[in-house]
Amino acid sequence: MPTDVDARLAALRGPVPARHHNARTIAALTSNPGCARRAVLDAAGIDKAALATAVDFPAPYGQSQFAITRGNAFEARMKADGCAELLRLLRETLGLDLPDDVAYTDLETVAGGDTDQDLRHAHARTQLETATGPALYDHPLLKLQVAGKDVYLEPDLVAFQHNGRYHVVEIKSFPVIDRQADPAKVAAAATQAAVYVLALRKLLGDPGAVAHDIVLVCPADFGSRPMAVTIDVRRQLSVLEHQLARMVRVEQILAELPPELTFRLDLNRPADDLGAAVGAIDPCYSPTCLSSCELAYFCRNEGRTTTASLGTNVRDDLGGVETIDEVLALADSDDDSEVATMIRTVARVYAESR
Ligand code: SF4
Repeated sequence: MPTDVDARLAALRGPVPARHHNARTIAALTSNPGCARRAVLDAAGIDKAALATAVDFPAPYGQSQFAITRGNAFEARMKADGCAELLRLLRETLGLDLPDDVAYTDLETVAGGDTDQDLRHAHARTQLETATGPALYDHPLLKLQVAGKDVYLEPDLVAFQHNGRYHVVEIKSFPVIDRQADPAKVAAAATQAAVYVLALRKLLGDPGAVAHDIVLVCPADFGSRPMAVTIDVRRQLSVLEHQLARMVRVEQILAELPPELTFRLDLNRPADDLGAAVGAIDPCYSPTCLSSCELAYFCRNEGRTTTASLGTNVRDDLGGVETIDEVLALADSDDDSEVATMIRTVARVYAESR
């Protein structure tokens, strides 16, 4: 049943289909829980990459078509024949004692091909709750509450039941070379898996039903030979829960916005007009946005005169001094406040070191 909040979010988005959350978007969202702008845009399902392009600050990143194709091929190989390759890996690499006939169920659609999300979510719960013995479930549709609103997660995981507990299996296409992988990619994969662990626990209503050890599967040594490792994501889980709890409810943010505000990407809508609409919602920019949000270049440009644009450490150290102009003025002043004294000390040390 659509609510007033749903109707308001639909009006903000305009007549285009909503983008759905996935573990990557939730992980990125919770990396900056204080950003009202991102909270609203994501809740409305707005395509932030298209919005960034329309305001003349296109997102400079994203997976190449080659990387997407390679990733899909690796995942398809791992899941072929009822996840035969994945099961071999779980047996050999992780030493699990698994029978030959582990059941594999794809939950992408329910019987009759219905793709209704409520139905798929309920179906996933029924299937996972009634599983007996080792079993693999692909694409279970999960749900999390984000900023006071339930969101479905586009499922990109395999839930694997063994010894009465589920494990999240994340299949990623970044390579592991000489048993070393890019630490940033491993960290991102662990955080995304933690999102799925949390959502699976909520689906099953029992934190003990889903292990905090996730299984990460990647191609090894430039070839397509896979390898698997387990990663303990307890730390990521506690950060995630903390950040989700800190997020301001979307309906509170919506209540402060002009009623006529919309982000419709009409072909003839000037970039300035759309940029002004984006500017109506408070951002919370920090340099970490550059690696996690499609609107980062827009928000960086918008806030280039603020101390926040220099990072959270600088913002915290200069608490209360909002703009770079104010900092420069304090550096030349005889203000005897603590922050002004600190700024003058830094300016003197900097001048001497030059
Ligand atoms: S780039 Fe902008 S919208 Fe995205 S999280 Fe940062 S401040 Fe928020």
